[in-house]
Amino acid sequence: MMNLLYTLFVVNNKYKYTILQNRDNQTMECTKCHERKDISEFSLKNKKEGIYYLHCDDCRKYTLQMQYKYKNKAKDEYEIKKITNVIDCECGKSFVSFRDYHIYRHVNSQHHKNYISCKNR
Ligand SMILES: [Zn+2]
Ligand SMILES: [Zn+2]
Repeated sequence: MMNLLYTLFVVNNKYKYTILQNRDNQTMECTKCHERKDISEFSLKNKKEGIYYLHCDDCRKYTLQMQYKYKNKAKDEYEIKKITNVIDCECGKSFVSFRDYHIYRHVNSQHHKNYISCKNR
């Protein structure tokens, strides 16, 4: 741990970046995969202040892909709900509703009634 430079940046009192960096051969430890990689494997978050992302490019790419996938999945689920008219009730049940009767039926279901009576207790 001799040549390690440990720096804490606070930007706008809000974001904190810690850079764990080897002064001699400019390597940095990725906080995600914990591999020590060449500084060129990291992207600059803030060029002016020389602040690097804490995750290496590989990990960042992976995270972005996951976020993208998750976003798409959430969007798909929403589209399905829109088509099938699924209503998420606060009681925790989801039900399909094409007409008011379905809502009426749900509101009078035992599950929903139990929820309401617990809530009002
Ligand atoms: Zn990494
Ligand atoms: Zn309900």
